[in-house]
Amino acid sequence: MSGLEDLYREIILDHYRSPRNRGELPCPPAHRGEGFNPLCGDDVVLYLLAEDGAISDVKIGGNGCSISQASASMMSCAIKGKSFAEARAISDAFKKILSIPDADSNGQDLAGSDSAAPDGDQEIALGDLQALQGVMKFPVRIKCATLGWNVLTDSLAELDADN
Ligand code: ZN
Repeated sequence: MSGLEDLYREIILDHYRSPRNRGELPCPPAHRGEGFNPLCGDDVVLYLLAEDGAISDVKIGGNGCSISQASASMMSCAIKGKSFAEARAISDAFKKILSIPDADSNGQDLAGSDSAAPDGDQEIALGDLQALQGVMKFPVRIKCATLGWNVLTDSLAELDADN
């Protein structure tokens, strides 16, 4: 159990120290979105370049705690090259692993809850994002973990409205 938590911590720290897709994209043609988490002082800037309903390039800016910045880095890897629909599905799947209602009391149920995953759902490979599911034990950090994803949701809605 602690071995898994060590691995997760390593993955989060790796994304925090070496953030992927860090930078900016010229706007236009890219879309710029920004989110702020006043509880923690986190700031995530998301640049999306959209082509034919897909995310052809993505860059991340901003500053904040390790959870917020690692989550945004992992998100950039997960959504790059994906269609808007795929990106939304990944976002939904990620938010779902942060809000499993019965993984509350003692934190010992993490391994067991995997087997109770609902069937019939489209299989979504979350990869490194699984590492963030530990934050659901710390409700105040969930806002850090979801900050970039909320910017993504808003940005995709705005890009849809532009078309
Ligand atoms: Zn934070």
